[in-house]
Amino acid sequence: MGLLALGTALDWPDAKKQAHLVRAWGIKQLLEIWSKAKGKERDAMLWGDEVEYLVVTYSKDDPRVLLSLRQADILTALANDKSLSGKGGCVPELQDAPNSRPNEPLVVFHPEFGRFMLEATPGRPWGIDFRELLDVEPNMKLRRCIAKDHMLPNEHPITLTTFPRIGSPGVFTDPYYPVSGPRLRSQFVPDEIANPHIRFPTLAANIRSRRGRKVQVNVPVFRDENTPWPWKDPTVNYDLHQWPEDEDVRTGGAAPDNFIHMDAMAFGMGSCCLQITFQAKNITEGRRMYDQLSPLGPILLALTAATPVYKGFLADTDVRWNQISKAVDDRTAEEMGEKPLKDSRWRIPKSRYASNSTYISTDPRLRPEYLDPDLVTDPAIKQQLIDGGMDDLLATHFAHLFIRDPIVIFNEDLQELDLNKTDHFENIQSTNWQHMRFKPPPADNSIGWRVEFRPMEIQITDFENAAFTVFMVLMTRAILSFDLNFYIPIVKVDDNMERAHARDAVLEGEFWFRKNPFPVRVPPTPGPVEDEYRLMSVNEIINGTAYAKRSSSAAAAAAAATTADGQQQQKTEGEEDVDMDDDYDDDDDDDDDANDFPGLIPLVESYLDSVNIDVTTRCQLATYLDLIRRRASGELWTAAKWIRHFVATHPKYERDSVVSEEVTKDLVGAIIKIGECEQKGKGFNGLVGDAEVPAVERVLGGLGGGVRDEHLREIGTGSRY
Ligand code: ADP
Ligand code: MG
Ligand code: MG
Ligand code: MG
Ligand code: MG
Ligand code: MG
Repeated sequence: MGLLALGTALDWPDAKKQAHLVRAWGIKQLLEIWSKAKGKERDAMLWGDEVEYLVVTYSKDDPRVLLSLRQADILTALANDKSLSGKGGCVPELQDAPNSRPNEPLVVFHPEFGRFMLEATPGRPWGIDFRELLDVEPNMKLRRCIAKDHMLPNEHPITLTTFPRIGSPGVFTDPYYPVSGPRLRSQFVPDEIANPHIRFPTLAANIRSRRGRKVQVNVPVFRDENTPWPWKDPTVNYDLHQWPEDEDVRTGGAAPDNFIHMDAMAFGMGSCCLQITFQAKNITEGRRMYDQLSPLGPILLALTAATPVYKGFLADTDVRWNQISKAVDDRTAEEMGEKPLKDSRWRIPKSRYASNSTYISTDPRLRPEYLDPDLVTDPAIKQQLIDGGMDDLLATHFAHLFIRDPIVIFNEDLQELDLNKTDHFENIQSTNWQHMRFKPPPADNSIGWRVEFRPMEIQITDFENAAFTVFMVLMTRAILSFDLNFYIPIVKVDDNMERAHARDAVLEGEFWFRKNPFPVRVPPTPGPVEDEYRLMSVNEIINGTAYAKRSSSAAAAAAAATTADGQQQQKTEGEEDVDMDDDYDDDDDDDDDANDFPGLIPLVESYLDSVNIDVTTRCQLATYLDLIRRRASGELWTAAKWIRHFVATHPKYERDSVVSEEVTKDLVGAIIKIGECEQKGKGFNGLVGDAEVPAVERVLGGLGGGVRDEHLREIGTGSRY
């Protein structure tokens, strides 16, 4: 998240009075950029990823692993290092890597909400060349290496979504700050947990203040053999009298039985994710990408599941999404439907952090039935946009985002409206944290319309992060190249988002998905929408129904085996012939055939078959696709499953859902070891059988070792990574 200018941030009562002005100016700025950029053509197919890190302190002889709150110092050290080529082993020669330009950094670091977090992106966006896809992983490794190089010896950047013991009793930050402060008023975390830039504490305080109570982040606890039941969160003080809001726990039922109770923004916005932004050639293509990527969101959320622990307890869910959603939910009781509407303008069904609720494409295949019949929009704003020349669908999209209030307003920005800026528009836009974001060009119109894919959980290794990034890039190209159609009603995408939370949803879950993704002729009288989609497993969606049938038995066998030889099941079995000319076929009475789904990986393979791509590159891309394929089939584990396994098999775990300091230390230690092993470029085979890093082969399956060695030799930097 980019930082707004410094200034005087208004507290909520004052901000509330200016909300209308900010929205009005924001809409004017939007119309300005829209009229400037709506005809923009032929923007390059650029894209870029974002990786977020937790910074932890860890050393072998320290019994505790802690969150390091030195974000500002680390960012300063990074900013002062002009070369950003790093010292001590981060290979200055990398300046010659294909993504580099003279005097341009290869990587860029950004602040994040948590004072223990960092974000890093490539120095400039990636381009259309397939070989650049092979630079992503080395670039991610370089980011990690450079970040580490600007930290203290006992500090480590790790890509874990959530610190397992954030908010646990005792010490979990370095330095230690007592709980609690006036901004967050949390029982569990100090105000100092947030980035001290005024924007962030104000964001947290004003969300709480607008809402009229603290945020309530309740996650079902995982019930193990020895977990007392019903379970009362033992870390909650049910009789606290420090802040007025404490009453919510005392008498308001804020901390119900069988839930891990959390009460501050840091529990959500302190999570790390993997995001990708794609630039479209024009607004029409951008709108199409936005719609078509949307139904993939929950599937990729389930596939990247990595968040099974909160505040020192095993949770009964596998992903971070809903927790962030609750952690920034600023809705009033009236907006939530708990009280009749009096001061609030409308009931709002979702948090401002939620799955997206609109489709925006001009694609004739977008049937009105796919839209949310209960979508809340601001009618005056919609009219203003339409009067400004915007079409109904796009006006609806923005009029929906603009039902929200701006949360952080700087007094200095309210002097006069500047149409050469987009600050007021971005104020609302950037605090609508949906799983897709449609990004208009900036005020200077220097870059194009972009679409951001935001649901994925960060993965422990850069190999995995690169694999999911590459997969999504190829998927996007396949969508555009084959004109694929993944439309289902948007409310089914919402439903899928919930489904993605279940423990092991990737294997056990079923998700609504469109049966036929091909660009069929729309029949004169289209059938009922309900006939267009059905429930499928992630395996069916990713690998196709034919593969899923065959692989389910293979996966069962692999799961039963005590040691999995990662190499034993190389693909070939996944290579289906995809019939791209599958016409609308309404006299098809063959049930099996009607339920055939080609699979996203086979679609990507077909796309790769259709383009010119050298053999070396193709082979290396295949390694990434293999990870996705085998994760979807269950042959390889999600990080969530691996973490659960790590905890469950730890000698100190007492089967009571408690993830103790000792277990956490060993878990983070194992993750650091995996990272170091990966940095050395030898892959993970060295960790197989390592008692301290159990079952790493179940996650990576022998992949990720020497993946791109040949490519690196080709570009002359091989051994240096
Ligand atoms: P945000 O945090 O608002 O999502 P960031 O500035 O962190 O945005 O960057 C998001 C990603 O977009 C980065 O990987 C960056 O390299 C990439 N990016 C920058 N310019 C473009 C562009 N013109 N097209 C596509 N991606 C871009
Ligand atoms: Mg970020
Ligand atoms: Mg960013
Ligand atoms: Mg982003
Ligand atoms: Mg057919
Ligand atoms: Mg047939």
